[in-house]
Amino acid sequence: MQVDDLSFDQRHIWHPYTSMTKPLPTYWVTSADRCELILKDGRRLVDGMSSWWAAVHGYNHPVINQAMNEQIARMPHVMFGGITHSPAVALCRRLISLTPEGLDCVFLADSGSVAVEVAIKMALQYWQGRKEPRYEFLALRKGYHGDTFGAMSICDPYSSMHRLYRGYLAPHKFIEPPKCRFDDVWNEEDGVPLIALLEAYHYKLAAIVLEPIVQGTGGMRFYHPEYLRLARDLSNKYGILLIADEIATGFGRTGEWFGCNHAGISPDILCVGKALTGGVLTLSATLTCRHVADTISNSDAGCFMHGPTFMANPLACAAANASISLLEDEQWKSCVAAIANQLKSGLLPLINHPRVIDVRVLGAIGVVETTHPVNMATLQRWFVDHGVWIRPFGRLIYLMPPYIISSSELTKLIEAIVECLDLPSHFLL
Ligand SMILES: *Cc1c(COP(=O)(O)O)cnc(C)c1O
Repeated sequence: MQVDDLSFDQRHIWHPYTSMTKPLPTYWVTSADRCELILKDGRRLVDGMSSWWAAVHGYNHPVINQAMNEQIARMPHVMFGGITHSPAVALCRRLISLTPEGLDCVFLADSGSVAVEVAIKMALQYWQGRKEPRYEFLALRKGYHGDTFGAMSICDPYSSMHRLYRGYLAPHKFIEPPKCRFDDVWNEEDGVPLIALLEAYHYKLAAIVLEPIVQGTGGMRFYHPEYLRLARDLSNKYGILLIADEIATGFGRTGEWFGCNHAGISPDILCVGKALTGGVLTLSATLTCRHVADTISNSDAGCFMHGPTFMANPLACAAANASISLLEDEQWKSCVAAIANQLKSGLLPLINHPRVIDVRVLGAIGVVETTHPVNMATLQRWFVDHGVWIRPFGRLIYLMPPYIISSSELTKLIEAIVECLDLPSHFLL
């Protein structure tokens, strides 16, 4: 006898960060259009998550769909070893021109975590090329860089993943992240851990790795641009590389094209992913400057040692070209500013709520930090029953809607958050 599909899913399929014996509930989505997810039972949910930062244009966008359909008809995939194609060339031209000055060499990979692995490998091969091998990285506490081993090794060391794999993960140096908020007055104290560690230890470090401006999954924190300028100055002073993980912040989410733009800096290596294809396919890129690329290429290895099977997948590149072309007129800037204003007026007053310890908004990101962790299963169900898709974690209830969201849809998301705070059963008190 055939078990019904939802039970099959629960019994046999792993979802992100879930148990096989006590799986969290899943909701059956049959289609998605603009800012709505449509459930099997016909209910429509306003999407507050953009499928984890990715679906910046919403769902089912005709321009992206058409670009993909045309590419499917021509060539959905071909190997990238010894072959090139116009979707990749057009995309790399775009990435070089949009990203901060000097990032002229592009490596296309297949997910954010792999882009971070590639960045780490570039830094290691760079130091090999300099005949001064270095293996340690400086990263920030509360940082998040992905789930593969290299990426995990530079994530916050006190989060559970480090605990689980300790002994296998490469050891790195961690410092307290800046406390100064994005629009506070810069406090020099915030630079002290970085200055002190570099002074004592720079000669062992290959690179500083950070998420510019927004620390995402590690805590949804927004910090001061001056910190990025300091990191750039100090990495120049000591001759170590600066790696910017823009996988969450890239393509306008914070109100600028990239987080680095808030500080006017260029990193030596930059990773993008998530919104790169407008959220329809997995694709990432790691960009670096000519100096790093040349040093790697002139090393004993003679080349950069990475080459995924689906590197530069033409279908994903076509989607990325279409998505970026939709951003190129920069109309998203006024959309993101309008979202920011509405998030501020709707969420900031919650700071006075007894169950809230902080509220913060930057660009199209709104975060409510609660006193107690949420009960994910009950709160998620309540949100679905109220017609919204919001997926909180820990003590964080947050929104990062598609840029095209209407103000009435955004109101619905904000009202759901405001209301849910008054229901004690949603929190693990
Ligand atoms: C999501 C994310 C990653 C990992 O990307 P995946 O595509 O999930 O592998 C890495 N760094 C940051 C900052 C992210 O937000």
